[in-house]
Amino acid sequence: MNVLVVNAGSSSLKYQLVNVEQQKLLAKGICERVGSSGAFHKHGLDENEHVLDAEMKDHDAAMALVIDALLDGPTKAIDSLDEIDAIGHRVVQGGKYFDKSALIDDDVIAKIDELAELAPLHNKAALMGIHACQKLMPNVPMVAVFDTSFFQTLPPKAYMYPLPYEMYEKHSIRKYGAHGTSHRYVAERAAVVLNEPLDELKLITCHLGNGCSASAIDHGVAVDTSMGLTPLDGLMMGTRCGAIDPAIVPFIMEHEGLSTSEVNELMNKKSGLLGISGISNDLRSVKDASEQGHERAQLAYDMYSNSVKKYIGQYIAVMGGVDAIVMTAGVGENCEKMRRMIFSGLQPLGIVLDEEKNRQRGFEREISTDDSKVKIIIIPTNEEYMIARDTYEIVYAKSQLIEAGSETA
Ligand code: AMP
Repeated sequence: MNVLVVNAGSSSLKYQLVNVEQQKLLAKGICERVGSSGAFHKHGLDENEHVLDAEMKDHDAAMALVIDALLDGPTKAIDSLDEIDAIGHRVVQGGKYFDKSALIDDDVIAKIDELAELAPLHNKAALMGIHACQKLMPNVPMVAVFDTSFFQTLPPKAYMYPLPYEMYEKHSIRKYGAHGTSHRYVAERAAVVLNEPLDELKLITCHLGNGCSASAIDHGVAVDTSMGLTPLDGLMMGTRCGAIDPAIVPFIMEHEGLSTSEVNELMNKKSGLLGISGISNDLRSVKDASEQGHERAQLAYDMYSNSVKKYIGQYIAVMGGVDAIVMTAGVGENCEKMRRMIFSGLQPLGIVLDEEKNRQRGFEREISTDDSKVKIIIIPTNEEYMIARDTYEIVYAKSQLIEAGSETA
């Protein structure tokens, strides 16, 4: 089954065409600056990537370009649209409605729309992607895969905020988490690498990229996570501040004369590594500057590692121990220096990084010493594969029911 995986942002549309049975990537690309001038479309596998300047007034136009590129020209991947068997959409916020991925119908679309209040930019963008695909491929089944579903297992003591209870009742204010598809994937793969059943393991998964989150996964079930009502909470990130004293928000608004949207922008776009270093949201640039003696870059680097360390400590306490800590995403997978800083001083907790293994490059691997009680593992994340797999399973199950005559198409 060929699944088109679509990840629509407010001004971008990322996609991959995957053959699920063969676990083969057939095509991938991204449309950027959709709806504004200077839009471009990057398409093709690494060795055959083409970048085209192209006007895209909206996501419908972007999706039309994607289909053209899949069907024709130097990056052609399929002969006809009939070769796309299903479409999987990444949706950020599934709220209380979706504890797993769902076949898209009118009711699912209405719920994604209703939940847009909790993730305004993200859910509206996903809907634009869904509508664009519906117009161009009306008969292809589509599945929504939610970033939040994996965290619907959190117990109330973890997902509630100590605010007046009516805030939860009236506005659904609670922790939903994010990056769930990534945490679910790396936890599954970690169990394979450890050669132990997932439901017998206590794991802490750290997704450290431009966005960062950590999760506690106890016997295969997510019991806590660092992102909250929105993806602003928790760890320090590239441009997001993560958890701060909530009283700082009204303080800044008052003293800087900022509106709610301005203070939101300050915390989401101007904070984190960028805000502290004053240099960049990109950890590589911050690291380079710190090594040349830039004090604020060094501070940003130290704060980032300390923030991860603190969540590891919290989650060991939450689960009463940990068998393995999993590192993923741009920083987690690639930055040996950051990993060294995160794990330094954790030897009393039975967590011992192997310096030599930490330096080596490779795919999925253990980087703790042989006698470390707690294993440290690197797993490159693959959210697109998870979206394709969920889509395959749901569409396949539906086709079996139709074949057995117990459901209509
Ligand atoms: P992601 O959001 O997963 O693409 O991760 C992006 C982050 O990973 C950026 O802060 C990059 O600087 C960081 N990153 C990627 N490769 C490296 C590397 N080799 N060393 C340090 N940081 C890296």
